Amino acid sequence: SGSTGCLTSRGWLEFFLCCSLHRLGLGISNVSFDSIHSLQLSVLPSFGFLFDIDGVLVRGKTPIPAAKRAFQKLVNSQGQFLVPVVFVTNAGNCLRQKKADQLSHLLGISQDQVMMSHSPLRMFKRYHEKCVLVSGQGPLLDIAQDLGFCQPITIDTLREKRPLLDAVDHDRRPSILVSAHFCFKPFSVVLFGEPVRWETSLQLIIDVLLTSGYPGNPYGQENYPHIPVLACNMDLMWVAEAQSPRFGHGTFMVCLENIYKKITGKELKYEALMGKPSRLTYQYAEHLIRAQALQRSWEQPILTLYAVGDNLMTDVYGANLYNRYLEKNSRQGSKPRIQAKVSGGRGPAVLSQAAAHCKSVLVCTGVYNPHNEVPLDTRDSITETVFHGHRDFRFDPGLVEPDHIVPDVDAAVDLVFQLENFAPN
Ligand SMILES: [Mg+2]
Repeated sequence: SGSTGCLTSRGWLEFFLCCSLHRLGLGISNVSFDSIHSLQLSVLPSFGFLFDIDGVLVRGKTPIPAAKRAFQKLVNSQGQFLVPVVFVTNAGNCLRQKKADQLSHLLGISQDQVMMSHSPLRMFKRYHEKCVLVSGQGPLLDIAQDLGFCQPITIDTLREKRPLLDAVDHDRRPSILVSAHFCFKPFSVVLFGEPVRWETSLQLIIDVLLTSGYPGNPYGQENYPHIPVLACNMDLMWVAEAQSPRFGHGTFMVCLENIYKKITGKELKYEALMGKPSRLTYQYAEHLIRAQALQRSWEQPILTLYAVGDNLMTDVYGANLYNRYLEKNSRQGSKPRIQAKVSGGRGPAVLSQAAAHCKSVLVCTGVYNPHNEVPLDTRDSITETVFHGHRDFRFDPGLVEPDHIVPDVDAAVDLVFQLENFAPN
């Protein structure tokens, strides 16, 4: 980790465009997963889908026509899914239900099928009981509590309680010095998404890290490694209505990492990085896929995951990275077993994994432009231009080559059914 790779200038535009914009929410209504009574083995799936949302199912608020056709193939006459399906978005500034609601034009989707960049935080149970400082915007406390955190405090609350700390904006400095009693000590920091008033968030997070959770105290040399930092959605930029990409949460993280390094001479460390392309996100998605299969009493193991997305640097890179991990584990003959670590464990609690492969399927309805290929010559990519992925990820040309390229999500479903010899109806 810690190294950066490069893209050539040909890939640059592609990459620029690819810097994520998974800002959509999905809303959801409930779908029941009653068992289906099938007489043929071929109707039972041994695979599952991970669908990206923006650029695959919708563009902005507009549904992509192919998505409706695809979904007609994915459900039976009662509207039940025939295959385990999870919707994986890097959005993080709203609740799952809101995202599910945004997909309600397609069909009834349960919020249990929607994965936001922060969803894996549910697994980090050992952080849930203690006070956590949360950074971002939107309904932060609701999101944190929904994920299981019992004592979240926001940057705004911390600022109110410690009015001397936020001194950049002259107009916001306290006029009267009062000493507020502050009884919360953050034991960890969760970065949900980009905040507003970056100087305030940067200052207060640095204060908390350099004082081990006592931001009114002087900085101490001994506070390293710092208290745990968990971060969601490391997308550097995203594409909105403006002509050029906009700052994403990854840009905020670059600031925080570099300020920390400049002040202390040491690396800011992440206890966990979540959201595509991180492995944790795919592990959690697989966990949700398996939970669906279990609920439907589908007894065949889910062996292959198909990740359908429009972004080379998040969807394809993430799926391929996870595939390497799965295949390495299969080669070694040991299934990765990340069983529930109820307390004290460093890792998250998820169902044990069984998939052997994660295949990447790229669609052309979103940011990917088939006429603008990423160069596959490694030397080019090392000598030129810039990698926009996170500091702790390395650019690897092999990881941005999709297993399959199809025009749209409907074609993706057809292809996968064909590959899997799956004939549910
Ligand atoms: Mg997308």
